[in-house]
Amino acid sequence: MNLILLGPPGAGKGTQAKRLEERFGLVQVSTGDMLRAEVRAGTEVGRQAKAIMESGALVPDGIIIAMLAARVAQPDAAGGFILDGFPRTVPQAEALDGMLAEKGLSLDHVIELQVDDAALVRRISGRFTCAGCGEGYHDEFKRPRAEGVCDVCGKGEFTRRADDNAETVGARLDAYHRQTAPLLPYYAAQGKLRAVDGMADMQDVAEGLNRILTQPA
Ligand code: ADP
Ligand code: ADP
Ligand code: ZN
Repeated sequence: MNLILLGPPGAGKGTQAKRLEERFGLVQVSTGDMLRAEVRAGTEVGRQAKAIMESGALVPDGIIIAMLAARVAQPDAAGGFILDGFPRTVPQAEALDGMLAEKGLSLDHVIELQVDDAALVRRISGRFTCAGCGEGYHDEFKRPRAEGVCDVCGKGEFTRRADDNAETVGARLDAYHRQTAPLLPYYAAQGKLRAVDGMADMQDVAEGLNRILTQPA
């Protein structure tokens, strides 16, 4: 099964992708995580992407498409993947359709997580991540069970993203509405688009996704 989780920054794509990985044996492919790894490693792609990401704008399609093509060609993706944060533009979606067709693959579902802008700002401003295992947390909505200690790996070091700040959030939401929202009619025209209420709590969103993914075609 190959899916896209579509939705604005902070909608809960990463949170839900992690759950779906476990439940359905899929791999999460997050272009944002891949770009942050390139920045940390100081590669040429990372060097090109860093300032763009900090501004809240989108990294050029050519860079992203090449990176994604290399990722989905890896053996672990053959069992099915969840795209989180890709595609973000119509040219990226067209490139993905071409890539999948060449491999004889297709998309099973494109699921939009619907969350309004005010809630997104709150979610992004409170987001932090375990430096040890990558588990996601939130100042208000998902604090570690023991203060300062990761529920999953027990480490006590957390990170916040450089672009998760009030100044950049506006630019990121703007990029979503202008450049990514046109993918909704694109996938609706293919008959693949489904929506889940992303304003609900994490467990209810997970159940909404499970219902879509387990219902007979
Ligand atoms: P995205 O990958 O779409 O940018 P995340 O999964 O990182 O979004 O979620 C953004 C923040 O909101 C995280 O801190 C996460 O813990 C929190 N969050 C995710 N889903 C919900 C939800 N349904 N209700 C409240 N907070 C949520
Ligand atoms: P979020 O879900 O919170 O928006 P991501 O981790 O998906 O964050 O993306 C962070 C940043 O990385 C984006 O603001 C953008 O600069 C860049 N990026 C990630 N994926 C893409 C993509 N598919 N196309 C262009 N830029 C991307
Ligand atoms: Zn951890």
